[in-house]
Amino acid sequence: MSSKTDNIPKRDLISRINFLLQAGMLINRNCPPSLLPLSSLYVREAKSCAQKSLVKIDRSIKRIVCKNCNCYLIAGYTARTRVKTRRGTYFIVTCNICSHVKKAKRKVI
Ligand SMILES: [Zn+2]
Repeated sequence: MSSKTDNIPKRDLISRINFLLQAGMLINRNCPPSLLPLSSLYVREAKSCAQKSLVKIDRSIKRIVCKNCNCYLIAGYTARTRVKTRRGTYFIVTCNICSHVKKAKRKVI
């Protein structure tokens, strides 16, 4: 008799990707800034593993990772967040490490 969790395809790859993303987040939050490249390395490895195995990383995680340097974007620490109200309201998130700019349109409530 097998449970529902035993039937997940690519379970080992998904758990590896999850571990790498969590390790990257922990290093980014709790360690000194000198270890930020290690966090980026973990995130890059998780992205590479997901791309090779055709596993999608959740959109909520993609939103908080810089596309250029693979660093977690934490407001006030590794990212600067601004709100711009020209032709609608936008969030502008700037990475403090590589100065990559990400724009996101605000959801209408
Ligand atoms: Zn960056």
